[in-house]
Amino acid sequence: MNFTVPEETLEIINGLKQFIDKRVIPLEEENAELLYNERNYYLENGRRHPKVERLRKEVRMASAEAGFYTMFGDKELGGEELGPITALLTQEAIAKSYPNRKLIDPVVIPSPFTNGITPVLRGLKQELKDYYLDGIRKGEKTLCFGLTEPDAGSDVWGIKTKAVKVNNEWVINGTKQWITNAPYADYCMLFAVTNPELHEKRKGGITCFFVETNSEGFNVDSVIPVMGELGGDAGIISIDQLRVPEENIIGELDQGFTKAMHGINNGRLGMSGKCIGSAQWALKQAIDYANMRKTFGKTIGEHQTIQNMLAESAMDIYAARNMALHCAWKIENTKKQPVKEISMVKAYCTEMLGRVYDKVIQIHGGVGVSNELKLEAGYRYARILRIPDGTSEIHRRTIARSLLRGDLNFN
Ligand SMILES: Cc1cc2nc3c(=O)[nH]c(=O)nc-3n(C[C@H](O)[C@H](O)[C@H](O)COP(=O)(O)OP(=O)(O)OC[C@H]3O[C@@H](n4cnc5c(N)ncnc54)[C@H](O)[C@@H]3O)c2cc1C
Repeated sequence: MNFTVPEETLEIINGLKQFIDKRVIPLEEENAELLYNERNYYLENGRRHPKVERLRKEVRMASAEAGFYTMFGDKELGGEELGPITALLTQEAIAKSYPNRKLIDPVVIPSPFTNGITPVLRGLKQELKDYYLDGIRKGEKTLCFGLTEPDAGSDVWGIKTKAVKVNNEWVINGTKQWITNAPYADYCMLFAVTNPELHEKRKGGITCFFVETNSEGFNVDSVIPVMGELGGDAGIISIDQLRVPEENIIGELDQGFTKAMHGINNGRLGMSGKCIGSAQWALKQAIDYANMRKTFGKTIGEHQTIQNMLAESAMDIYAARNMALHCAWKIENTKKQPVKEISMVKAYCTEMLGRVYDKVIQIHGGVGVSNELKLEAGYRYARILRIPDGTSEIHRRTIARSLLRGDLNFN
């Protein structure tokens, strides 16, 4: 395996950084009072302020125009299909250089499978592609991925949302929760049971529908505020007699679950890249502080316990980075999805980020828990990431099942 960063990837990262410095950072600075004061950022009901939404749209559309927004999307959907190594390294570089920013992640590059030209959309009928894809590619329109329900998270077979066929339409009823971007999205990839028998046997029976969120019967009732925030990104959706035409089925009838998994691994790897970048930024803050802050007549970096925390963080980052790169390399070179390895990478990288932030905050003492250094924002982000895209426990289950089936391959 060659660990040299490809020249083309470096050029992309440099171009993206120039774009962010020129187009996004000035916008952030001009609107700092809106973006970095939670009381302004969110409305009373927990939704982002419409002005924030306008800024996000402006950044998305500028990123699309500059060619960054769709660069990891499939070619058949109008993307550049830059491979997993470039995706991983780009996410790492952005998280490392622009940590915990409001208008950068996941605005400049959308979350790889829940928004933008997600691979799930490969299953759209051509007519719908012709009609909808352009707005999604341009960053004008956004999506959400509606699978989880109050009684179905890790165990997605537990979904109860039902679609019943009436003439040439499907009538859908149910509830979805924890749907990222639902309060703001134009379209939803909505999962519902279409064949109760198959579903009961866990052999299919779930279908994915493409839905316009302003349709009658589709309502985002509330936003779920997350750890320490006054609002959030994820919403609870109620679906009441929603009518969806037959042609809006994404992929095959009753095969939506396969569709749901399509592309989810891109998301997991991208998320891991962000963790690796963010952890490096945090460690750098700790090193700078350890070299500057003095106690008992010397810098705290001279105390061995502090050195241990720095060293352990570096070991953790190194392990995570090489593990993720190896996995990306494997995907790029075999064109297969190594399920066990992706689970190891997602669980390890998200947990590593939590461990690193925890130590970095400790090294900073009191100032570490203040809101000023954005360390607490990174810590909260790290804590959240152990849940979506498969919890740490579910990934361990996947890994263990592969092992028990005899997959002892570590190459
Ligand atoms: C910030 C955020 C964004 C999200 N975005 C989306 C989205 O856009 N679209 C979407 O559809 N969903 C989304 N989700 C939902 C997410 O996928 C689920 O929260 C996740 O799958 C866990 O489901 P749950 O919350 O119902 O927990 P549960 O499944 O109820 O799990 C509870 C606990 O039990 C553990 N557990 C469950 N089963 C097992 C098992 N077999 N073995 C061992 N432990 C087990 C879990 O790991 C967890 O610790 C999001 C969640 C969050 C937090």
